[in-house]
Amino acid sequence: MQHALSILQNTFGYPAFRGMQGDIIEHVADGGHALVLMPTGGGKSLCYQIPALLRDGVALVVSPLIALMQDQVAALQEAGVAAACLNSATAPEDAREIARMARSGELDLLYVAPERLLSPRFLDFLASLPQIALFAIDEAHCVSQWGHDFRPEYQQLGLLFQRWPQVPRIALTATADAETRADMLHFLQLQDARQFVTSFDRPNLFYQVVEKDSAKKQLLAFIEHDYPGASGIVYCLSRKRVDDTAAWLCENGLRALPYHAGMSHAERDANQRAFLREDGIVMVATIAFGMGIDKPDVRFVAHIDLPKSPENFYQESGRAGRDGLPATSWLCYGLNDMVQLTQMIESGDSAEQQKQVELTKLDAMLGYCETASCRRQQILAYFGEASAPCGQCDNCQRPPATFDATVPVQKLLSCIYRVEQRFAASHVIDVLLGRANQSVTHFGHDKLSTFGIGRELNQKGWRSIIRQLVARKLLVVDIVRGQSLLLTDACRPLLKGQQQIALRPLADDKKRQSVHAER
Ligand code: ADP
Ligand code: ZN
Repeated sequence: MQHALSILQNTFGYPAFRGMQGDIIEHVADGGHALVLMPTGGGKSLCYQIPALLRDGVALVVSPLIALMQDQVAALQEAGVAAACLNSATAPEDAREIARMARSGELDLLYVAPERLLSPRFLDFLASLPQIALFAIDEAHCVSQWGHDFRPEYQQLGLLFQRWPQVPRIALTATADAETRADMLHFLQLQDARQFVTSFDRPNLFYQVVEKDSAKKQLLAFIEHDYPGASGIVYCLSRKRVDDTAAWLCENGLRALPYHAGMSHAERDANQRAFLREDGIVMVATIAFGMGIDKPDVRFVAHIDLPKSPENFYQESGRAGRDGLPATSWLCYGLNDMVQLTQMIESGDSAEQQKQVELTKLDAMLGYCETASCRRQQILAYFGEASAPCGQCDNCQRPPATFDATVPVQKLLSCIYRVEQRFAASHVIDVLLGRANQSVTHFGHDKLSTFGIGRELNQKGWRSIIRQLVARKLLVVDIVRGQSLLLTDACRPLLKGQQQIALRPLADDKKRQSVHAER
């Protein structure tokens, strides 16, 4: 192992291995197969780069993103490592030169796009090599339909492994629920591989969720109060919202820059470079921003729209606090986020099975937002890790009291029943509050027995209850028919008065927002 350590120090310039790196490197350098689950920023790259240098021959790295590949290769070359990449953008003469270098043993690492790897020409090229050092499969969750970016070509990689079974293979990912993990073992033939599972916990991240009221104002208040002058990232669902939010933050005196796929390359590059180099810039972005971004001192990641899965959420929020210093994941969400995302999934082009997967993940995300217990525990449990309440999230620091909501819930459910499950939340709430507006009178709902029976709560209170009931699957939002609220079977005992229900009280936004600052 002395040799691996000297490569770490002399080539990469780091004094010591981090976490399991040393063990993983030793195992793979010795010819073992490995499955590595390590959170983003944990240092996965070195786990195959150093064995690639320790073993004879060229190491093949399969990676799904061309941009990421090019960054990695550039960084390696800068460190004096013989690395190259082959993808759809590689010119034929460059490809020939790369092949020559590989055959003559001048190349240590070759990054390849998955579709390229399985072409007959590439297989011939592999067969002509004197030695393959290892196969590294980066972003290995792409092999699974359960993953958030499924790549069918990844499932073909097994062909390579059958042909070169003695070549060690190391699969790496930051995100893997139980199903994805099973798929990786199966398709990448890693049943005998040693699994290195690093904790997904990010102890220096504080988790906070607030109910959406006026997202931009809430965001500004959060930044000004908790992180004035700090670098941060704000994720939004749409390009338009990115532009609006960035402009609005600037008007309010912050240095905010937009980033989304609708901007020109030059603009995006300029903004990204400014964010990386300078302090105190707030990057307002769609999820297009962040792959491969490695800025250690991002103090907060804010989501002003609900992320579509726990994987997305974890990866995006994980870009905060890579330097190990305190940082915050701040999420602002409302029922409309849920409705909007459900609609996007339902109306998308994915296959039916895939849509179900996406809806399940969205549900898990809603569960994170609506939980009354430790948020970290909830995320880690999703990634298959058991843990104790953390003390470092809003719910741990101020456990939300629950209250007996049986009576208001009964009122709500019977009101939904009386309007025949054909109306959206806003209409149902109008009826409960006794607002005889045009729509309510048009449908004769001012004559219902439930008209005006819910005046003890306000609009916000009812919305909070509806969200919690959706999260608990007592209600469903029917997005096909005008976002009507539907009752599920689970409502029956409540409607019959056979069951009690406790809910989180209406969160007081100000109180919850200041939780972090008071620590
Ligand atoms: P991942 O692929 O797991 O997201 P990377 O391999 O990109 O993570 O590494 C994240 C950052 O941590 C990089 O800046 C990398 O140089 C740095 N890093 C990795 N290993 C070490 C180490 N042993 N000591 C210090 N920094 C490290
Ligand atoms: Zn907690």
